[in-house]
Amino acid sequence: MQNSALVIGGGIAGIQSALDIADAGFKVYLVEKEPSVGGRMAQLDKTFPTLDCSACILTPKMVDVSRHPNIELLTYSEVTNVQHAAGDPSTGSGQSFRVTVKKKPRYVDISKCTGCGSCAEACRFKGKVVDTFNAGMSKRSAIYVPFPQAVPLKYTIDPTQCIFLTRGVCGKTFLCKDACKANAIDFTQKEQFVELNVGAIVAATGFDPFNAALKPELGYGTYPNVITSLEFERLSSASGPTAGKILLKGKEPKEVAFVQCVGSRDQTTGNLYCSRVCCMITAKHAHLVKDKVRNSTVTVFYADIRAFGKGFEEFYDRVREEGVNYRRGYVSEIYKRGEKLIVRSEDTLIGKPIETTADLVVLSVGLVPRPETNVVAKLLGLTNSADGFLAEAHPKMRPVDTAIDGVYLAGCAQGPKDIPDTVAHAKAAAAAAIVWLRRNASKQYPVFSNQSVLNTVH
Ligand code: SF4
Ligand code: SF4
Ligand code: SF4
Repeated sequence: MQNSALVIGGGIAGIQSALDIADAGFKVYLVEKEPSVGGRMAQLDKTFPTLDCSACILTPKMVDVSRHPNIELLTYSEVTNVQHAAGDPSTGSGQSFRVTVKKKPRYVDISKCTGCGSCAEACRFKGKVVDTFNAGMSKRSAIYVPFPQAVPLKYTIDPTQCIFLTRGVCGKTFLCKDACKANAIDFTQKEQFVELNVGAIVAATGFDPFNAALKPELGYGTYPNVITSLEFERLSSASGPTAGKILLKGKEPKEVAFVQCVGSRDQTTGNLYCSRVCCMITAKHAHLVKDKVRNSTVTVFYADIRAFGKGFEEFYDRVREEGVNYRRGYVSEIYKRGEKLIVRSEDTLIGKPIETTADLVVLSVGLVPRPETNVVAKLLGLTNSADGFLAEAHPKMRPVDTAIDGVYLAGCAQGPKDIPDTVAHAKAAAAAAIVWLRRNASKQYPVFSNQSVLNTVH
């Protein structure tokens, strides 16, 4: 047990931590609640400021974790219980964790599934289920893989959408089962619980985009041509619903407006922090519109520009040179007049209210903790910072440690970060876990006979 670690979350942070700990010779269990690893980065089109294709840099790492001899992938699984054995009471060293992981039934035998997709083609609910990977902008079947580069490339039946699993009947025959030549579909599968003993834990629970519907004055959910930055990512992605073309109902929007700081630095939502990435995400999106839509007019409404990373300021300059208009001021309202959206704001540089017409408005939403963050905090005995993300032991001297020895934070679990900072943070968390595991490798570990249960989630 002293030679193993648990990583919770299979996004880029969890993937990087798992790879580094495994490369150091320790066994790693990588637990991901979704059917595939990849996390939010898998949904991105290009990455700023270099405009690398996100999937091109992420997919090799996803494949690496699946093939690493020291890594055991537990996808479509969740940690439900953690027991904590305190070790040597005088030093705290030698402590370890017994972890219970729930493996959710996929209703597909992954040892047989070849990933051919015939079941999804045949499914009675083909094209009827909202595709969350495409941010709700397309439909899929009730049996699915989240995206074509999924790891593992194994199909899963969505228990909330499959009509047999929700209502006990799916026509005279199971169309998915009939289509599966590998005989992989198995409706008898049940939840399974796995017990793991580990010496260190890395929490890499990631983030969610802010729910733009909480700012009703911006028209999200009312006007279909008001979308979020995550939806724009899928719209501009070659693997997205429009094959990378910026199209709304088949038409190219010529006037595009971006609104920054949606759900960040905002007293009304309680999210007072800066999300750190959305200025550059907007600059990237503005560039993509200019690149893909000829003769487009692009306006960015901003409060401040945070272009602090390597190459960021230069990218921001480049985008303005491409003709993107930056107007300083908070947007107070978005509404419709005729066929056009009207973005009303005050330009704080000239001190006058302005109205701008748009065919498409993209809300640059902030980053918020995933709901699972609190579940993981409870299980591990961690605390939250004022922003709701997980609290590090010290913001400067111990940025990946927590108050619990042997438990570390990686990536956006600790707070909003761009990809380079996420990878650096994840590597730091892995290094801290490796030091901890090495220090304790020779210690006698306690037996879990009478250990207290920290917390259980059902
Ligand atoms: Fe897997 Fe069978 Fe579906 Fe092919 S048809 S993807 S083998 S479950
Ligand atoms: Fe689709 Fe019916 Fe199969 Fe469910 S049982 S996955 S609804 S074909
Ligand atoms: Fe606003 Fe930019 Fe900070 Fe995002 S990064 S919250 S858009 S200032």
